[in-house]
Amino acid sequence: MKFSLLYLLCYLGFHQHKVVDVKFGFSSSGKIITVKCKNCGITEIKKGDYKNY
Ligand SMILES: [Zn+2]
Repeated sequence: MKFSLLYLLCYLGFHQHKVVDVKFGFSSSGKIITVKCKNCGITEIKKGDYKNY
């Protein structure tokens, strides 16, 4: 049931994000951070300063 719980959390938007890449943007928007969920493997691009990741 642990498996389903992890996916339930992902479904609810609580991904276990891990930073996989950090780049500096071309504009003044700051950093571009690529994060990947350890549970479902989805990747997301974050812009700006995400100090929590
Ligand atoms: Zn996830």
